[in-house]
Amino acid sequence: MPTPLISRRVAVIGAGAAGLAAAHELQREGHNVVVFEREIQIGGTWVYDPRVESDPLSLDPSRSIIHSSLYCSLRTNLQREVMGFIDYPFIPKDDHTRDPRRYPGHREVLLYLQDFAREFGIEDMVRLQTEVVYVGLVEETNKWKVRSKKKRENNDEFEDEIYDAVVVCNGHYTEPCVAQIPGISSWPGKQMHSHNYRIPDLFQDQVVILIGSSLSANEISREIAGVAKEIHVTSRSVRDETYEQQSGYDNMWIHSMIESVHENGSVIFRNGRVVVADIILHCTGYKYHFPFLETNGIVTVDDNRVGPLFKHVFPPALAPWLSFVGLQRKIAPFPIFELQSKWIADVLSGRIELPSQEEMMEDIEAFYLSLEASNVPKRYTHNMGDSQFDYSNWLGAQCGCEGFEEWRIQKYYASGIGRRLRPDTYRDHEEEDDHHLVLEIHQIK
Ligand code: FAD
Repeated sequence: MPTPLISRRVAVIGAGAAGLAAAHELQREGHNVVVFEREIQIGGTWVYDPRVESDPLSLDPSRSIIHSSLYCSLRTNLQREVMGFIDYPFIPKDDHTRDPRRYPGHREVLLYLQDFAREFGIEDMVRLQTEVVYVGLVEETNKWKVRSKKKRENNDEFEDEIYDAVVVCNGHYTEPCVAQIPGISSWPGKQMHSHNYRIPDLFQDQVVILIGSSLSANEISREIAGVAKEIHVTSRSVRDETYEQQSGYDNMWIHSMIESVHENGSVIFRNGRVVVADIILHCTGYKYHFPFLETNGIVTVDDNRVGPLFKHVFPPALAPWLSFVGLQRKIAPFPIFELQSKWIADVLSGRIELPSQEEMMEDIEAFYLSLEASNVPKRYTHNMGDSQFDYSNWLGAQCGCEGFEEWRIQKYYASGIGRRLRPDTYRDHEEEDDHHLVLEIHQIK
């Protein structure tokens, strides 16, 4: 006789796409779920907030946090079909207030997540305006104490509760990394992190230095170029002698890294060029940050590696009672969140058994060694890229379902190629290109 499945009391921290996927899969497997969300609505990153933080570099620990890093004009960088959950396709709605484009604006993604939450009754599991301030093991048990703070008009209200398991889904695009620049303390210009970039107006007629080469860096530089006097993009991924004009732009140049900055406002690049600039915009990424989590040193963040984690999800010594959804970067996030969540839900119910603690640690060690052998810096531990497809298959195999569909993989690659070849127009270009494939995908679903 099969062993009966066990229902656990599970706390999910965060109601962004990862937390919603976790709540859905956990509930489907029969667990008793509470989702804690500190904001006033679900959606996480996809809740656009026109406000910015008081410290434009977001370094002041006492600042009030604005969660989302979205800028006003942002459209998705993946086609909606690729981006959507496997079991809940992100197809256009027959509703004139919605954005039917293949690469829709950010509001459409938020509406999709709201639809998803409504469809599966997730809203009832979410406690809004309730921030988790502490998660720690209850002594001599495998249970967790979760302390939350409910925002009230006069007095915040704290509550302590005990859960069998905690799933961390707090996102990782809120706590900025800032470039270290020799001489910056006496440089007189302004500085900002892209976390606080919303609209280009601030950059009107300015000489701008933009640090970074990520997707957001590319898009923001192109938007700012429309209003700025000059924009100088500097990145560690180009050679020291690099100095070239960005094709298609008469006011944008690509440079190697900054060597130093000076009191007279000048910025000196490794290529020997000197620019007197008004503002430095750091598009330099984000840190993993779990200020509420106390694991007695079992889980650490070291040079942006969260570890040790088996398959980026379970810390072996605390598995399966603590897990993380959505740590990876350079992926199609939603379907990965969905598969990870199924796996967690099934492990917690006893449907799936994890390897022993020793075996999981061995797997992690082998993974770290493989990164070292390929010269992948520790800070890129959670960058997946192409390996997400095998990973999705692996997760699927654990849960008895498929990983990524073949069309999703093809379209994921196609968007990457489009972005490289036609960075300014790929979103609308593709729209005309492959309508037949989209129809096919919708029919399959
Ligand atoms: P989030 O969406 O960040 O959600 C985390 C949630 O946890 C938030 O609601 C937050 O309020 C809550 N929270 C945090 N701490 C606590 C706490 N202590 N207590 C209670 N609640 C807490 N992905 C794509 O697929 N396509 C794209 O085009 C795309 N573009 C992007 C553009 C930008 C600028 C950024 C920053 C990201 C983009 N992404 C994109 C990736 C995006 O982050 C993921 O799509 C996804 O939204 C991440 O979901 P998440 O749930 O992991 O995190």
